[in-house]
Amino acid sequence: MAERRKTRQITVGKVPVGGGAPVSVQSMTVTKTADAEATLTQIYALAAAGADIVRCTCNEQEAAEGLAIIVPRSPVPIVADVHFHYEMALAALEAGVNGLRLNPGNLRKPEEIKLVASEARDRGVPIRVGVNAGSLHPSLYKKYGGATPEALVESARMELAYFDEVGFEDVKISVKASNVPVMIEAYRLASETFDHPLHLGVTEAGPPPAGLIKGTAGIATLLAEGIGDTIRYSLTADPVQEARAGRQLLEALGLRERKSLDLIACPSCGRAEIDVIEIARKVQEALESRSLPLQVAVMGCVVNGPGEAREADLGIAAGRHKGHLFIKGKIVRVVPEDEMVEALVAEAEKLVTEGIDARLAAADAGAEREAEEDRMALFETRGSDVNQAAQRIKMIRKTVANEQEPQPLSG
Ligand code: SF4
Repeated sequence: MAERRKTRQITVGKVPVGGGAPVSVQSMTVTKTADAEATLTQIYALAAAGADIVRCTCNEQEAAEGLAIIVPRSPVPIVADVHFHYEMALAALEAGVNGLRLNPGNLRKPEEIKLVASEARDRGVPIRVGVNAGSLHPSLYKKYGGATPEALVESARMELAYFDEVGFEDVKISVKASNVPVMIEAYRLASETFDHPLHLGVTEAGPPPAGLIKGTAGIATLLAEGIGDTIRYSLTADPVQEARAGRQLLEALGLRERKSLDLIACPSCGRAEIDVIEIARKVQEALESRSLPLQVAVMGCVVNGPGEAREADLGIAAGRHKGHLFIKGKIVRVVPEDEMVEALVAEAEKLVTEGIDARLAAADAGAEREAEEDRMALFETRGSDVNQAAQRIKMIRKTVANEQEPQPLSG
């Protein structure tokens, strides 16, 4: 990971963005903003899933009225998303929002932009200049022959020039595109051009899993280069998935402290002694509902499992119809196979409340020995080829050879 690029800091509500602040996660509600109760329910769900800031559209007077109810009751800062109508930006400011997002591609009159910026300046509310390749200013589209990285950055620069005229500097910038290489190049150029915080996103990424892959390809590449101060996945899905993905990405990159489960599981192979996919699914379901901030491993065999997952806080590996439960690679308990998930979940809860040292001290006395006996027994009964691979290869060769034998002609 490259050192994070230095940017100026702005504050969205109570959340600092840029200037060395933790990278924040954003998402957007899909309810009608005018329906304040439904929108608040979704905002609470997004906050629980990891969103630090939530954006709501402000597209009509009723939406602005909804924002006036939502903002004081929201657990996270609220940003109003404004397209086309500067009056909606003014109404959102009047409703008390913590930030605005303006799209320079469709809010183009200089006097209107400056009026909104002056009002935001007087109220101490930051604005995101949200450039989007899909709605780029037509003159820039023509000048650059398309939504190129240079065109996206110039759009942001033009907007900043209007803000400068009224002495407004409380700004973050996004230069989103749905094309990942264009998005990456645009943000690299933006980071060389501006010292404002950057809001990263691959726009209109589509439904998961492809949408998640596109979002991660763009956002993670830039974060690894030290670029980016706040992020949003744009998925065609329940926005809770966006917030969760954002949070998980930042935890995976070590940019945010772990708050949620990190389940590592082997991909399974011919050595697996259990249905790894099914056990991993059960473990994920049980642990996610308990919000335990642990790295937990589910490994299909005791031959390689505990060693390969020795860095995990806690894990389980299967062998000889038993589960070997391990903490930081040390076997602490051996349980019957059908109690594996239960035992793992119980141990996870104790680990969070008592800590690793206490749980290692509480390990079953004979666990290491019993686990080693299981491993040795597997080697003894099947030789070093635990999976009987040699035998299987022989059988496969025989089958293939038989299939290739000329078949008698019928009739
Ligand atoms: S842990 Fe065992 S079952 Fe899982 S992939 Fe590795 S060797 Fe295969």
